[in-house]
Amino acid sequence: MDAESLYRSQRAYFMKGQTRPAEFRIRQCETLKRAVLEYEPQILAAIGKDMRRPETESYTSEVMMIIKEIDHAVRHIRSWMKPIRVRTSWMLRPGKGYILPEPYGNALIIGPWNYPFQLLLCPLVGAIAAGNTSVLKISEIAEHSAKVIEEMVSRYFEPECIAAVQGGPEETQHLLDQEFDYIFFTGSVAVGKIIMGKAATRLTPVTLELGGKSPCIVTPEVRLETAARRICWGKFFNAGQTCIAPDYVLVQESIRDAFLASLRDTLTQFYGRDIRESADYGRIVNRRHFRRLLRLMENQKVYFGGETNESELFIAPALLQDVSPQSPVMQEEIFGPLLPVLTYRSLDEAIHFIRSLPNPLALYLFSDKKATQKRILQETSSGSVNINETLSQVTSTTLPFGGVGESGMGCYHGEESFRTFTHYKSVLHRSIRFDNSTKYAPYRTPLKYLKRVMRLIG
Ligand code: NAD
Repeated sequence: MDAESLYRSQRAYFMKGQTRPAEFRIRQCETLKRAVLEYEPQILAAIGKDMRRPETESYTSEVMMIIKEIDHAVRHIRSWMKPIRVRTSWMLRPGKGYILPEPYGNALIIGPWNYPFQLLLCPLVGAIAAGNTSVLKISEIAEHSAKVIEEMVSRYFEPECIAAVQGGPEETQHLLDQEFDYIFFTGSVAVGKIIMGKAATRLTPVTLELGGKSPCIVTPEVRLETAARRICWGKFFNAGQTCIAPDYVLVQESIRDAFLASLRDTLTQFYGRDIRESADYGRIVNRRHFRRLLRLMENQKVYFGGETNESELFIAPALLQDVSPQSPVMQEEIFGPLLPVLTYRSLDEAIHFIRSLPNPLALYLFSDKKATQKRILQETSSGSVNINETLSQVTSTTLPFGGVGESGMGCYHGEESFRTFTHYKSVLHRSIRFDNSTKYAPYRTPLKYLKRVMRLIG
């Protein structure tokens, strides 16, 4: 089906009101859960073919996360849908006010390639829970995953309610030409700007889940081995191709050498002496990204790792030291297994450095000092902060996930996903029985008197 026919069929379906009842939304969520569980082997295999990601990583970051979102939504949909009573002022009595959550209508969800299932299906849970129809635009880059998503969605859902479309920029543009009521985009800052520009022509509301350089500050007062383990896990999960991976480390200069040694030892513990042989380490998604990463490594001092093999799209975790803030690797989101380790002298200097760059999607702080934690929380801005861990903030259904400034706008997960795809309609319901004639023309009440009454009733 072409983009226009697909959109029209979903429009007609939404207008019939079928997506609105709680029972329908819950049933759709349960269908999605069944689909994901039944397709689990194909999902893990497809991601394996696309980026040789270990199954444990794919299970926890895709299947498990989607199921958690579904279970949470199913438990709460009925209460999220309830009208919210609000107080009404004396002037509006007799009457009552409430906020009625209603679906936007037809949602377009555009996904990236790095977590191809989770980043389409978690937003989809929100869109279903809120009573919308959805078109999922799958990224063209993870091609095995793309095929599985398309097949799975078409087997379990009617296309007029939920459909998945493969394709690149051109197909996305065709979809953007339709009159969707909500656009949920996950991807790069550059494409995010294109999406928002297009949405602006119709004043379509958008959520933009973008990327950026997420800093990781390491202070001297933490256990270095634990910090190194948690940083290596977050950085080299999916071979660094994670939007909230620590992009670079800022370590206090007095512990730099010990910290680098700790990172190196951790990598050997994780992946053994020959990382290429490890079944627990992934590959770069394609040749273009492989070469981009090689360019970022050029002229850098590699402390450890960084071996490459182009035919396998393999880049070993690379610890870079003495990195200049002006070097190319510090100018763009790395999105791969290169970890620049920079130093700072005082916390002021670290904060100043972070503030000189666009607001990141995530900020990681390894510190046990309350004063340090407070300063970082108050003096920097980022989509999320994780103190003494990496990545795990994204797994919580009670913490909204999203960026700020260049790292995006809007957020989702848990109830926030429902809120994202919901319009909160204000309703004022007045009685028809009593009518205060003083508000109508001709205005006979002296203004002085009116002001006094207004002050009294508030
Ligand atoms: P991308 O922006 O290149 O592509 C995202 C989607 O946009 C794809 O479906 C693609 O087909 C489409 N697209 C690409 N060019 C387009 C164009 N000119 N017009 C219309 N549509 C177009 O991103 P990517 O390479 O797939 O993913 C990597 C980026 O996504 C990184 O920057 C990463 O940080 C970010 N990301 C963010 C999150 C998050 O949750 N915030 C999660 C994952 C990835």
